[in-house]
Amino acid sequence: MRSLIAELTVIAGSAHVLSEPDVVAGYATDWTRRYAGEASCVVRPGSTEEVAAVLRACAGHGVPVVPQGGNTGLVGGSVPPPAGWRPAAGPAAPAAAAAPVIVSARRLAGLGPVDLAAGQVTAGAGATISGVAAHAAAAGMRYGVDLASRDSATVGGTIATNAGGIRTIRYGPTRAQVAGVTAVLADGSVVSDLSGLTAGSTGYDLAQLLTGSEGTLAVITAARLRLHPAEQAGAVLLAPAGGMAQAVGLYGQIRVGVPDLLAAEYIDGAGLDLVCRITGLRPPLAGQARAYLLVEIAGPAQAAAGSVDLNRLAAAGLPDDSAVETSERGMAALWAYRERLTESIAAAGVPHKIDVAVPVGRLADFRAGLDETIRDAGAGPAEIIVFGHIGVGNLHVNVLGPDPADDRVDIAVARLAAAHGGRVAAEHGVGRSKTGWLSWSMPAAQISAMASIKAALDPAGLLNPGVLLPG
Ligand SMILES: Cc1cc2nc3c(=O)[nH]c(=O)nc-3n(C[C@H](O)[C@H](O)[C@H](O)COP(=O)(O)OP(=O)(O)OC[C@H]3O[C@@H](n4cnc5c(N)ncnc54)[C@H](O)[C@@H]3O)c2cc1C
Repeated sequence: MRSLIAELTVIAGSAHVLSEPDVVAGYATDWTRRYAGEASCVVRPGSTEEVAAVLRACAGHGVPVVPQGGNTGLVGGSVPPPAGWRPAAGPAAPAAAAAPVIVSARRLAGLGPVDLAAGQVTAGAGATISGVAAHAAAAGMRYGVDLASRDSATVGGTIATNAGGIRTIRYGPTRAQVAGVTAVLADGSVVSDLSGLTAGSTGYDLAQLLTGSEGTLAVITAARLRLHPAEQAGAVLLAPAGGMAQAVGLYGQIRVGVPDLLAAEYIDGAGLDLVCRITGLRPPLAGQARAYLLVEIAGPAQAAAGSVDLNRLAAAGLPDDSAVETSERGMAALWAYRERLTESIAAAGVPHKIDVAVPVGRLADFRAGLDETIRDAGAGPAEIIVFGHIGVGNLHVNVLGPDPADDRVDIAVARLAAAHGGRVAAEHGVGRSKTGWLSWSMPAAQISAMASIKAALDPAGLLNPGVLLPG
């Protein structure tokens, strides 16, 4: 390992090769604190060429690489496996020569000029989502991906996980924003197409293949991203609901009546109560409800309340005691109940976080069976908080109480989602937490094709071993 670290130091400079155990531990522990692993060192390359040299050096020593962006991932994919972990037996999964090197892309944070005519921008993989959004906004454009981790989550990490977020109903997930990438393969070779061309009929689309690959096929160093004309939020509504079925019904009515929805989010009553308890925010409505629907509508600021036909919404079932805000401050205040949920749950304990996709028409049945499913998992008393992007059927099931190392609850919830025709991962990825679950919602032939692609691009199994595919 010492000779590899010496090589990495020549490539990236001593300031960017970190091997102090305390510092390395910070990179090797994930945001949830549920996943912590062992890394030989952290290297922070400053260019695609340096990433390529780093990967060549690691391949030469047979040492695995864990690509990392903002380390806000929630499924353990951004950190190495614990000491002693060995990949499942197989010709493409030899035992590693040493603990992985974490390759942090954070220094690759450059932003190119916004191309207004193309509606695109080139961004370094380490640029944060809030950085890209601000850069786009300064040119009068909007980046379509937005999520509460925006100040730390990076372009590379969001591409690698095909992140969704609060604007997915409007602009689609990250996949829909990616027009090209530069990336370094396991052997150090560089693939790049940042032309941003939409027209093209020249074979496999590597940028799309790498989207959602969770660092198992390449280290992404830059991306060509699509931008959208800026749309202002004109109104935010927070409506109480009797449960998931009523929230879905109300969402459907609003969707029909209001064409320009920017976001539609579901929050369990228990989740909103927790946010108030942890953050000290005052309850937003006079009474308590079992569930809440938060909707953001596009429109000119201040005027949207007029453009939103509240009478029609009332006829559609919008309860009288809903909150409707049209000022920037008021809208931000309503968003805070949703935006501060993840941190509030983390403050209350180490949660089981199960991110699942369920067809919108099955959400109510899924939610109705959830508490019993969790209870029957036998992992002990549980506090259950569900929230998520209702419009795309993406729910985050958070369970506090059961031992973080006991995954019976996670398995039971993922199986319930699959039984309702859903997917075991919606936007956070598979990471380390869900390997082995793919077959519950994906045909064997598809998993086998993914394994073949992995074996072809990374025959020694050095890129993020144990993530996405079992090994
Ligand atoms: C408060 C909070 C709210 C969140 N809300 C959402 C949400 O609404 N929607 C959502 O989708 N996610 C959400 N997340 C999860 C997380 O922010 C996303 O998964 C995000 O895409 C991770 O980006 P990152 O840069 O932090 O990547 P990391 O956590 O560093 O890595 C995530 C995965 O990507 C790989 N990776 C990272 N960088 C690269 C690279 N340059 N090349 C190749 N592979 C790479 C890693 O190996 C790992 O497998 C939230 C997280 C938090 C903490």
